[in-house]
Order: sequence, then structure tokens, then C-alpha cells
Amino acid sequence: MARTCLVMADLRGGKVRNVTYEALAAARRLAEGGEVSVALVGDGVSGFAQGLGAYGADKVYVVEDTGLKHYTPDAYASVMERLIRTADPDVVLFAHSAIGRDLAPKLAARFGAGQVSDVVDVGLEDGKIVFTRPIYAGKAFTKVTISDGKVFATVRPNNLSADEPDAGRSATVETVGAGLSGASLRTVVKEVVQKATSGVDLTEAKIIVSGGRGVKSAEGFKPLYELAEVLGAAVGASRAACDAGYCDYSMQIGQTGKVVTPDLYIACGISGAIQHLAGMSNSKVIVAINKDPEAPILKVANYGIVGDLFEVVPMLTEELKKV
Ligand code: FAD
Repeated sequence: MARTCLVMADLRGGKVRNVTYEALAAARRLAEGGEVSVALVGDGVSGFAQGLGAYGADKVYVVEDTGLKHYTPDAYASVMERLIRTADPDVVLFAHSAIGRDLAPKLAARFGAGQVSDVVDVGLEDGKIVFTRPIYAGKAFTKVTISDGKVFATVRPNNLSADEPDAGRSATVETVGAGLSGASLRTVVKEVVQKATSGVDLTEAKIIVSGGRGVKSAEGFKPLYELAEVLGAAVGASRAACDAGYCDYSMQIGQTGKVVTPDLYIACGISGAIQHLAGMSNSKVIVAINKDPEAPILKVANYGIVGDLFEVVPMLTEELKKV
């Protein structure tokens, strides 16, 4: 049964995040030949429209306004609500990012529709949409079947594969007014002060080097950054390392931090508490460096190195530099 799908593009740092292309591939599977469109919302974003065509969008709705330069829940919800009322898609997909997690349930409520969070796989069974999502802090997966009606969902980055771009494919571009002048907006972003980061987005990183309490200090993270640089990786941390002030909370991975699914996760001086595992246990390959052979992280790791991280990590860095 052909259905129409709308994907909201996830933009950050002047770029379309990869999860947008992953959601587009999921939308193509669910559409079964129906139209797949993308909502490109922001300020100065129209240049991304044709690129989205190459990744599978049939149509791109461009909504540009200076009032959309920074994300605010009321402005973005107002724009998306108008767009969804006009386009009337059967399925609306968002990234499972800060913005998607905020907007999807808000909009689903406005449409009296269902909402499925943190989708890691999509499929069709007996003509019905089936979303797979983790439960019990990632210990199990459940399948949610959509029987009828409009549905909203957020897609976890790095789980679904994006389609190869087809440069010969293009999308119809429709410019839509933001209509913000009539909307009663309660929030305005005056200024954004950004923290300095390693540059690699944790939730989209293919490789993560992560440190825990065993790293012992902010200075102790230095060898982890050196290893990350050689690997082109992002640096993450356990909550204990953040709580101890070794690093910023934006780096926290786990149940109350970021959920990541890189190809390679290198845990250094992390014990493997359930709350940490909730954020990284679906990584494709896990390497744990821990001096305690009984550390629980070694039970989930594909490769365990029992040793002092301050000896093992620099050794790894030196060896990898030779490759
Ligand atoms: P520890 O458990 O202290 O482990 C340190 C490890 O380092 C040990 O295994 C030790 O053997 C090893 N080590 C020490 N020195 C060295 C060395 N030189 N070389 C090699 N290994 C060494 N935690 C999170 O991470 N993320 C979350 O999102 C999160 N959310 C939480 C939510 C709730 C509601 C609660 C209650 C807790 C949460 N926690 C979270 C905390 C969690 O329970 C653990 O306390 C935390 O993950 C422990 O961090 P850690 O592994 O770095 O520290």
C-alpha cells in the first residue's frame, strides 16, 4: 500500500546530519512507492534541497525565515504543524536528536496521532508498518506495529543505512512561508554560546574513545584525545568522569547521557555499569581497557585488554600511527 512520508531534515553546524539520509532511506522503504518529502526548516538552508533529492527525496519543502535561525520549540512546532496540515503525510520521521525528541511528541499530540521514539529499524509486515525500538535501557528490543492513522517517529542515528546518493536524481523544491508573524511565539534565542568540542559529533561518530573514573583527572584524558585524533574518533565519557569534573557533561554516554552506536567503541577505565551500557552496548565492536579482570564491561566487550590504560592507550596510539 503506497503511503506518503515526510522527513524533517536534521541540521547542525551548517550541515545536513547523516541521520537525515538514514531517515530518508527508511521513509522510502515505508512509502512503498508513495511520495517521500523532506521539510528543510531554518535560515539560509535552501542550498541543501537538491542534495536531498540525490538521497531519495521526491519533494523538498523549504521553510526559511530569520526567526528560524536557532531552534525554538514554539516557532518550529508552528512551522511543522502548518506543513503537516498542508502536505498531510501518513508518516512523519525525525532524527532522535534534541530537536526531534522535542518536536515529534509535541506534534503527535497536536494531531492526536501515535508517536514511536528511538527507532532502530523499520519494516513492513502484512502491509503494516513495524518499528523496532530498544526497551529496558537497551537490554531488549520491541516491535511496534502501526495499525492505522498518521504516525510520528524519531530515528536513532547510525542504525539504519542511508541509500547511496544518486547524482542523477532530483527533487521538486517548494518554498513555503514560515507564517511566523501571526504565530504567538513565547521564546526568542538572542545568542548561542557554543562549547569547544573535538569536532566529531558523538551521536554520529563511527569511532568513539571513551574515558571513565579510571582516567583519574582531566589531564588523564590527554592520551585518549591523542588516540582519538589518530583514529578520527570522538571522545566520550562515563557519568562518573563527568561528575568528577574530568570532562564536560556534553560528553556523557549512557542512560542519562547520549546514546551512541559507533562501529568501534573503546572504553578506557570504565567499569560497565548498567546505566553506561544503556548508552553504548549496541556499538558494533566494543574494546574495553580495564585493569580489573572482573570488570563487567569485559563481559560485553568483543575485545578486552586487562591492563593499565596509561600504558595501553599510548601504546595503541603509537602502533596506529604506523598504519
Ligand atoms: P567506576 O565504576 O568507578 O569504574 C572505574 C573503572 O576504571 C574500574 O572498572 C577500574 O577497574 C578501572 N580503572 C581504574 N584505574 C584504571 C587504570 N589505570 N587503567 C585501567 N582501568 C582502570 N553512568 C554513565 O556512565 N552514564 C549515564 O548516563 C549514567 N546515568 C545514570 C543514571 C542514574 C539514575 C544512576 C543512578 C546512575 C547513572 N550512571 C551513569 C552512573 C553509573 O551507575 C556508574 O556510577 C558510572 O557509570 C561509573 O562510571 P565509571 O565506570 O567511569 O566508574
